Amino acid sequence: MEKERLKDIKCFLFDMDGTIYLGNALLPGVADFFKKLRDAGKDYYFVTNNSSKGHIHYAKKLIRMGISAEPRDVVISSDALNYYLQKIRPQAKLYILGTEELKETIRNAGFTIIEDEQTTPDFVIVGFDMSLEYKTLAHSCRLIDKGVPFIATHSDVRCPIENGEFIPDCGAMLALIKSATGKEPVNIMGKPNHYIIDLVREKANYEKDEIAMVGDRLYTDIAFGLNNNILSVLVLTGEATMDDVERTNIRPDIILNNVVEILDYI
Ligand SMILES: [Mg+2]
Repeated sequence: MEKERLKDIKCFLFDMDGTIYLGNALLPGVADFFKKLRDAGKDYYFVTNNSSKGHIHYAKKLIRMGISAEPRDVVISSDALNYYLQKIRPQAKLYILGTEELKETIRNAGFTIIEDEQTTPDFVIVGFDMSLEYKTLAHSCRLIDKGVPFIATHSDVRCPIENGEFIPDCGAMLALIKSATGKEPVNIMGKPNHYIIDLVREKANYEKDEIAMVGDRLYTDIAFGLNNNILSVLVLTGEATMDDVERTNIRPDIILNNVVEILDYI
């Protein structure tokens, strides 16, 4: 049975919204769950594609809800970006379409951020820019149009917020840039692509069959597991329903009602 595979997992990657909390409310039993998981000798990271915020923001949010978390327990698509750039262009100069928090995460990794419009960067970075300014958007499009390659932190089109509402996410900005320039990003860092797995494996030295992805979205979390040959666990506390599972080809290895049920199998 697939659920037996949970026993061999040493490192769990947890999506956050819809998986361990909804908006600002922790799902039932989750605070204890992480304590028990740690007591059982399991390692875990909180993983998010949302590059608009930094590690401290997420750790504080988790702590506020009763989960003991440190900034280093949080893995963001922007970490995958830093990891990737350090491999391919450690001295990269970057023009960023993104929040101050994204800039800080990138700057802390040692990259140069271009703020003026005269210098040509090595890459334009497109993040989830909730502080989006037309001037930055226009300059980014002109750079991309002139041939500067661009990298996106993630491709989610909608970011869910309270009361079933949403705000347009990074993927929607990519559609705008594509419409204006005809160009696609040379790379997209977040789930469902592999960079976050590469980063976690380098951080902690796990084999792929020792890592599981747990999340509530089929086309990001579960696709991420399937694309990367790691165990994928769908929880039914967020976006995806059993009806959605029936309707798609993205088949999770394991389906659970909630994350707490993991404890029954480890
Ligand atoms: Mg989610």
